[in-house]
Amino acid sequence: MIGGGLAGLSSAVALADAGLQVRLFEKRPHLGGRATSYTLPDGSEVDNCQHVTLGCCTNLADFYRRAGADSKVRFYDRLYFADRQGRRSTMEASALLPPPLHMAPSFLFFGALSFADRRAIAKALLAIARSGGSPQDIEGISMLDWLRRMKQTRGAIERFWRVVLVSALDEELDRTDARYGIDVFWKAFLGSRGGYRVGIPSVPLADLYEGCREAIVRRGGEVKLRAGVREIRVCDGQFKCAVLEDGTEVAADVCIAAVPHATLPGLVPKQLSEAGAPLGDVSRIRTAPITGVHFWFDRAVMTEPFLTLLDHTTQWIFNKSKLYQVESNGAGGASDLVDSRRTQYLQLVISASYDLVPRSRREIIDLCRRELLDVLPATRDAELVKATVIKEVHATFSPEPGVDRWRPAQDIGVRNLYLAGDWTRTGWPATMEGAARSGYLAAEAALAAMGRPQRFLQPDLPLEGLSKHWAQRVKSTRP
Ligand SMILES: Cc1cc2nc3c(=O)[nH]c(=O)nc-3n(C[C@H](O)[C@H](O)[C@H](O)COP(=O)(O)OP(=O)(O)OC[C@H]3O[C@@H](n4cnc5c(N)ncnc54)[C@H](O)[C@@H]3O)c2cc1C
Repeated sequence: MIGGGLAGLSSAVALADAGLQVRLFEKRPHLGGRATSYTLPDGSEVDNCQHVTLGCCTNLADFYRRAGADSKVRFYDRLYFADRQGRRSTMEASALLPPPLHMAPSFLFFGALSFADRRAIAKALLAIARSGGSPQDIEGISMLDWLRRMKQTRGAIERFWRVVLVSALDEELDRTDARYGIDVFWKAFLGSRGGYRVGIPSVPLADLYEGCREAIVRRGGEVKLRAGVREIRVCDGQFKCAVLEDGTEVAADVCIAAVPHATLPGLVPKQLSEAGAPLGDVSRIRTAPITGVHFWFDRAVMTEPFLTLLDHTTQWIFNKSKLYQVESNGAGGASDLVDSRRTQYLQLVISASYDLVPRSRREIIDLCRRELLDVLPATRDAELVKATVIKEVHATFSPEPGVDRWRPAQDIGVRNLYLAGDWTRTGWPATMEGAARSGYLAAEAALAAMGRPQRFLQPDLPLEGLSKHWAQRVKSTRP
């Protein structure tokens, strides 16, 4: 296994569970790839960026279970929003109404939207639900094109569609394939009651992967950190060996390359990455940035566990002190306690942060602090003890219209060499779920080639209510 991000780890743990001896080589000194945490020089541990999962991410949930990390991710049923004036709205599922109507009561009372906005949104959501999540004629168009086609108001686009999708997909609506945007709403908000639930780790991200090493070693495998691979050798259309940066050659029955899409072409023979070859189009996949801003205040300034912001550059604020406290209390999050004698640690997230990339750290901190005054007035008198900005310029691949044609599948026609990575052809956008899916698909392909087929891929959440009925109807009427 080359690469110890979520794709490599999910694949390695599944293969170890299937009884294989896995040797995992990771270039960096820690596991988790982009979804990890590390210690700053002053001793504080920070996530590379806050990562959240959703109830509909069934493969990631399965991976966390295998890694013994599922109890370290807490799910929240209520979503919190704040507008420019700091007014709060919430959204949660009603237990009384069947999907796709289960979010309707929250939506009706969602103060940030006008009646016209709500009517337009309801019409578009119904169109998605009635089509079983697959409206027709969306091939190659952007989400913004589809929203215009559905006659969405400006308020609906800015304060609803954009708010959900830019953070879910890390891209602006005009650069997002409509299929991805529609899928988010179908899988998270319309198809089933629990798809929208937000899962947030109650520990630093790296702590989620402690069980992976154990699972691999238990089966006689090994995990090597600071062990970058510089070359994948292929001979007669078959994987031969991986060459580590120190020159060691590592042979194996099967190799899974779970490295980022920009890295892989540099590791394989030219014949695989030149024009017309299986990896010839990978370099066309573009990336989008995410900026994380970490603030430590000298006192409590926020009570909610997290907040989604409308009409601001900042999109999410995570109350890390509270999210971690859930773990240390063992209280399951029931408590609203924030220890006012201690600092409070917040993490802000800005996806598709193209405008922030050229800005200085100071400018970004000032901008975010100004925005906090709108929604967390207690920050006015609080002292900002420490601040860190982490810009991930190539955070995720851009889900631009038509991007799927550049994404290779796990099997690229080289015997005993398979690919994993959120960027491979999983049907999902660049998410931890996409990475876990790719890892499971690669593990399935490897075992099938060894004559030991096994299934790891998890089904989506079962459809419920009217959504299930409509999806079945569409399936039976479409060719
Ligand atoms: C800032 C940010 C915020 C995000 N927020 C979310 C979120 O909230 N929810 C969500 O679902 N997703 C989120 N994502 C996306 C998520 O992190 C990725 O989709 C997922 O982690 C990708 O996993 P991967 O294993 O495919 O790739 P990576 O995590 O990139 O793993 C690849 C691994 O390969 C290693 N490697 C590279 N070259 C070599 C080599 N030559 N030899 C050996 N090893 C090598 C790398 O060091 C790395 O560990 C976010 C991403 C970023 C950057």
